[in-house]
Amino acid sequence: MSYMKGLKCRECSKVYPEEALHVCELCFGPLEVDYDYDKIKKVLSREVIESRQPNMWRYRELLPIDGEPSVGLQSGFTPLIRATNLEKALGVSELYIKNDAVNFPTLSFKDRVVSVAISRAREMGFDTIACASTGNLANSVAANSAACGMPSHVFIPHDLEQTKITGTLVYGAKVVSIRGTYDEVNRLCSEIAGKYGWGFVNINLRPYYAEGSKTFGYEIAEQLGWKFPKHVIVPMAGGSLITKIWKAFNELNKLGIVEGDVHASIYGAQAAGCSPIVNSVLDSTDLIRPVKPDTIAKSLAIGNPADGFYSCKAIKESNGWGEKVTDAEIVESMKLLAETEGIFAETAGGVTLGVTKKLIEQGRIPRDESIVISITGNGLKTQEALKGHLVEPVVINAKLTEFDSLVKSESKSGEPVKA
Ligand SMILES: *Cc1c(COP(=O)(O)O)cnc(C)c1O
Ligand SMILES: [Zn+2]
Repeated sequence: MSYMKGLKCRECSKVYPEEALHVCELCFGPLEVDYDYDKIKKVLSREVIESRQPNMWRYRELLPIDGEPSVGLQSGFTPLIRATNLEKALGVSELYIKNDAVNFPTLSFKDRVVSVAISRAREMGFDTIACASTGNLANSVAANSAACGMPSHVFIPHDLEQTKITGTLVYGAKVVSIRGTYDEVNRLCSEIAGKYGWGFVNINLRPYYAEGSKTFGYEIAEQLGWKFPKHVIVPMAGGSLITKIWKAFNELNKLGIVEGDVHASIYGAQAAGCSPIVNSVLDSTDLIRPVKPDTIAKSLAIGNPADGFYSCKAIKESNGWGEKVTDAEIVESMKLLAETEGIFAETAGGVTLGVTKKLIEQGRIPRDESIVISITGNGLKTQEALKGHLVEPVVINAKLTEFDSLVKSESKSGEPVKA
């Protein structure tokens, strides 16, 4: 049973049928899924949601498919943890981490968007799945396509992390590595989508795909006891996740599932080497000036973000803000998160924590209000970023005397021995 009313242009509100369309033919605005909220209100409540399996499909009525999902039964409902050690380190009183570094099956939040896109693609009769990716989407499309027996074609920029390439190839996906930036990959893929009729999850299926990100927001509210946090910090690439978290909060409010005002402020985080959306926020304009990415945060390296304008809008509406951090600050924050909370996040996590730190220091985020940091990907996939930044292991022979002298030299210097 579907609760979709159709697709609707975000600019001129023209309505379209629930097909593989993503751009308005009148004004070129992006299309978004529209729901029958009155109908949803009659069937969806806190109790109904809580009675369901702990995965992203517990919010089924608010996701754009007609029947049952064909993938993603293990995706979502990741931990929201109280980060007491990091609270001390940052000097704040109520801090949480929403941890999609352990989202299944491919250890990033992209499994949420892909399970919706592929489930919808199958309903629409596509026989091939494809995507343009900065890495995590590639992993997720390859894995989830394999899981439902569909062939996949994945297009990536040539300079991705090796683990993200291996973690795509292993599922049998056809991978095309393109000499160019993500934005060039994306442009080529738009042409391929038109010519070959494949289901590109983030191009012709984008309106459906993007809705999957809402579950990240629903879960934050549910896991806080059906409350909104005061502040949420979100990493931005194309800018879809941040706009959908904002949409999710407003939907829960509209449905009466979370009462009161939506007082949450949403903050966008980017790397200084690719910050087209944050630059617009800082300049107080909603004009996005595309950039050429140069950062270790490759998963966020989109120079011409599709949802840039709407990200700025969500940030403004929610009274949030934006900030950016250098590559050195990204590494420092990856280490801080690991050392304080035992969470190994990828570079995007370093961006989000680094920006959070900055916003707290600037006084933009008050120290005594609830804060949620969005961790969206796993550090094992971006190990290159830490090369030369960690203390190497000490090498000794398997002799107690050698270990003894190691302990002695450590206690003398008062510091761990550096290799
Ligand atoms: C894709 C991605 C994002 C941002 O996604 P958008 O919705 O395009 O803004 C954030 N973090 C990680 C790890 C990602 O892979
Ligand atoms: Zn339009």
